[in-house]
Parts: sequence; C-alpha cells; structure tokens
Amino acid sequence: MGKKIQNYDVVVIGGGITGAGVARDCAMRGLRVVLLEAFDITHGATGRNHGLMHSGARYVMSDPENAKECIRENRILRRIARHCVEETDGLFVSLPDDDLDYQRRFIKACLKAGISAEELAPDEALAIESSVNPKLIGAVRVPDAAIDPFRLTIANVLDAQMHGATVLTNHRVTGILVESGTVAGVEAESKDGKFTFLAPVVVNAAGAWCQQIASLAGVTINMFPARGALLIFGHRVNHMVINRCRKPSNGDILVPDDIVCVLGTTSNRVPIEEIDNTCVTAQEVDLLLQEGVKLVPSLERTRILRAYAGVRPLVALGEDDSGRNISRGIVLFDHKERDGLDGFITITGGKIMTYRLMAQKATDLVCRKLGVTAVCATATRPLPGSEPVAEPDDDEEVENTMSFAHRAALGRHGTRVEMISEDKPEQRALVCECEHVSHGEVNYAIKELKADSMEKLRRRTRLGMGTCQGKMCACRAASLFSQADGDVERHVSDLKMFLNERWKGIRPIAWGSALSEAQLSAMTYQSLCGIDRINYSSPTDSDKQ
Ligand SMILES: Cc1cc2nc3c(=O)[nH]c(=O)nc-3n(C[C@H](O)[C@H](O)[C@H](O)COP(=O)(O)OP(=O)(O)OC[C@H]3O[C@@H](n4cnc5c(N)ncnc54)[C@H](O)[C@@H]3O)c2cc1C
Repeated sequence: MGKKIQNYDVVVIGGGITGAGVARDCAMRGLRVVLLEAFDITHGATGRNHGLMHSGARYVMSDPENAKECIRENRILRRIARHCVEETDGLFVSLPDDDLDYQRRFIKACLKAGISAEELAPDEALAIESSVNPKLIGAVRVPDAAIDPFRLTIANVLDAQMHGATVLTNHRVTGILVESGTVAGVEAESKDGKFTFLAPVVVNAAGAWCQQIASLAGVTINMFPARGALLIFGHRVNHMVINRCRKPSNGDILVPDDIVCVLGTTSNRVPIEEIDNTCVTAQEVDLLLQEGVKLVPSLERTRILRAYAGVRPLVALGEDDSGRNISRGIVLFDHKERDGLDGFITITGGKIMTYRLMAQKATDLVCRKLGVTAVCATATRPLPGSEPVAEPDDDEEVENTMSFAHRAALGRHGTRVEMISEDKPEQRALVCECEHVSHGEVNYAIKELKADSMEKLRRRTRLGMGTCQGKMCACRAASLFSQADGDVERHVSDLKMFLNERWKGIRPIAWGSALSEAQLSAMTYQSLCGIDRINYSSPTDSDKQ
C-alpha cells in the first residue's frame, strides 16, 4: 500500500487530450475524478502532432465512417473551443504527378460523407492561397482548420478542475490495484512519495503507453505505435491548411500554426520499447523536405525552426498483431467484457479531432458501471475561454485600446484574458518578443495554470516556441520564476534543461541560418550568462519532453 490514500469515483490515467476530455466529462456529470499524468499535460502525442482540425476529407477515401465522425466533431469544436481554433479552411491540391480522376472520386466521397468540397480551377486556388505550387492541376476547398492542441487540452483540464476534478501532473501510475477480479484503484509515485488512489473505476487513457498500463492490470493490449516526424518553419507561409490530393503519404500536409507553419508527417511502426524516443533522424528531415517543397516551393528557402516527432496511439486489433487490421478510429475496451476484469476501461486510438466523442463514449461507460444517469453536456457547453461574449459597440475601438501582448494573450486564453493584469507598466513588459508573452501573462500562467517549470510555461503560453527558440526569453522567464518563489537554484537547473530540450529539436536541422542561430544562443547562455559555470545540481523529477 502507498503512503497516502485518497478516495474517488474514477481515476483517469494520462494527461493528453483524451484523459483531459474524460476528466472534464466525468466531472461535469458530478463524479469525483482524479487525473494522473506522469509528466505534464500534453507531454505525449497531444503535444507532438500537426494541429490539423480535420474536416474528415483526409480519411474520406479509406474510412468514410471516421470521416463522418470528424466533420461532426469539427462543427462542435468550432462552437465549444472557439479560442483554440483558427478557421482557415483547407485546400486539397493535385500536382502534375497526381491523378485528376482521384480528385473527382475524392469530391464525390466528401459530399457523400457530408463534407463540403468545392472544386477550384488552378488560378482560383492560387488566388486564395498563393503559396501552393503554381504547377498545380486542380484543387478542392474543404472545411479543414488549425487547432492548438495545447490550448485545447489546458482548457479541458481547467474545466474539469472548475467542476471539482483533481489534476496531478508529475504523478506516474506504477500499479493497478485488483481485488477479487475487480479494479479497486491505482498506485502512483511523485517526488513527494507514493500514493494510493482508490476508485471503483479506472480509465486507461495513456495513449501509446496504454499497453504498459494494461499490463499493470494483467491484461493484454497490442498497441501499434506509429511514429510521425514533423518540421516547424520559422514563419507562416500559408493562410490555409494545404493537403496533397492523393492517397495519404509522407510530407503531404502543411498546417498554419499561429505565426509559424508545420509540415508533416511520416508514419512508421516502432517497437513498444522505443515509444519514448522522439528524436528525429536526418532521413526523416530529408524526406519531409523533399515532399513538402513539391507542395509549397517556398519552403525550400524558409528557415526551419525545429523538428519533432510523436507516436500515434493506434491499436492492433485482431489476433495476429500483423498491423493489417489497424484502425484509426476510436477504440474503447470494457475490460470486464473483454478480459473479465471489472472496473477497468481503455480509451485510445482516434485523434485530437475526435477526443470529445472518445471522452463521451468512455464516460458513458463509466456512468453505466457506477449506475449514474447524468447525460453528456460537452457538445454544447463552451470550454473556459470560449464562452460567448457580448458584441462590443465598436470592435475597432476595443482592439485599439489593447496592447500588442494583450491581443496575443486574447488569442491564447480567449475570454480568460481578463484575468491577466495589465495595470502596472512592468506587467505589460514583454518577456517573449516572438510570441508577445508579457510579464502579466507569465504571472497568470504561474498562478492560474500551475506552470511551475519552463516547459510547463512554454506549453501554456508558447514562450520559447517562436523564432528565437528561447534565446531571448528563457533567462527572463527563469528570473520571474525565481522572483515568484525564491528558489534560484531550481530555476537555474530548470533553465538548463529547457535550453537542452530546445536544442534537441534544433539538432536534426542544424545547418545554415538555423545553425547560426543555435550558435548565437549557445554563446548567449554559455559565454555571456556563464550558465555552464553555475554548478547547481540537476533536478531529479525531470520533465523530459
Ligand atoms: C505525428 C502525429 C501527427 C498527428 N496529427 C494530428 C492532427 O493533425 N490532428 C489530429 O486530430 N490528430 C493528430 N494526431 C493524433 C493525436 O495527436 C493523438 O491521437 C492524440 O494526441 C492522442 O491523445 P491521447 O491523450 O490519447 O495520448 P497522449 O497525448 O499520448 O497522452 C497520453 C499521456 O499518458 C501519460 N502516461 C503514460 N504513462 C503514464 C503513467 N504510467 N502514469 C501517468 N501518466 C502516464 C503520458 O505522459 C501522456 O501524457 C497526430 C499524431 C501524431 C503522432
């Protein structure tokens, strides 16, 4: 038994978008819920993907049911998660090597699935999206959009907490308690020791790690972890999401993301023992660039900011685990029916796009097990930050009175921007120039969003994610953390770790201007700040992403 024992109705394992969605739905239905995450919210695939809010068009040829789910959820997220979505629309572009007959069948399949698909002549497509290859032979406009997975997940976590949920980061589940064929709770560890969380229902929402969590309960799930690499470019070259109109392949989607854009992706099965390895190889970078430049030629001349990879939590359904029956749809296991173990549920597969529906299905099952009749309200209740606001009399006047940083924060936090104080001049001072993060916003993230490390601050505000990759802002943010709690030693170690993490993503693309920038960054911190000469010990509870 662990050191401290706490009682809940349901334990949710995993702080990705799936676990956050389940925690929100359970809490909204009145259940006492605790969410346990080994590192930080969005540490897994949720913080390592494309950020494409699918219309469903990408799946319409291979999996029309999945496509229909996407378009339904696409419409819901535009309503409930307004501040996480940029309504860009998407273009499916055919190049001279592609088949216009595929495009015709694609349009037909989209319309059948309820996805609007407008055929555009090449010059019409170029007029609305000038970055696409001018040699295109056809294009189709669909209701794709860009979604910020960090914002979306944090908003779900916030809402769960506002409905009474307990959310614990840096808490790794190490055991599942089973008594007489029924799950009774979990054991977890954090830097403060060992804990026992008792609950009649445990939800395994651990993404690619679902297999390990299931094995703690003595049941077998064969995950099919599919790794994908992506590249971030230093500025945004496209207004719309750009897809290649062909059978999905490598490097055929470019998604605008705030002030940058993201090219991806690859897809390779990796052994389960390697799912923590998110280093990108030179071959992956070459492959992405080779394909991406065909779609958007200016990428060849655009600085790459960094490379990263994530692991898709797909499940090998069927007996042989050959991967032939892989589903990209939602996988919900009631382990009582599947394995004779009551009180244990696994929810995985799917994608960010369908997270809310995944959470609804999992929570419906939790409620059935607990005899709770409350119904799901997540499709209609806006997330914190996306509540409707009264239209101001004069939009322009309101916008003009806002500082630059406040406008950027409005995009990131929606209506909660009101909680960011701008009263004093120092609160308006910029900490991160690339992303316009003010001192006031950093304070808000520390106090309200539980950002107690540089990585947590980055995920909640985008600090360090812009063009300078932390060169100018990281030491300022570390100083603010130190001022907030006086623990200089911890924050210097945290700063070193943050810079090392930034370097991991720069290393695979370190040539030309990216290498010059990296050298300038190293000189700033090593020579000017003398960070290597400060001999504080490294923290033990590392936040490794
Ligand atoms: C390259 C790539 C591109 C993608 N692009 C898109 C896209 O454009 N649009 C889209 O809709 N979807 C996309 N996806 C899919 C999407 O990212 C995933 O389906 C989704 O993020 C999975 O979320 P999750 O919460 O289930 O898993 P994860 O986000 O992986 O979360 C699982 C969490 O469980 C935690 N955990 C693991 N073990 C333990 C433990 N013992 N104790 C406590 N916590 C634990 C992990 O730390 C992790 O945070 C993409 C995926 C990849 C890899």
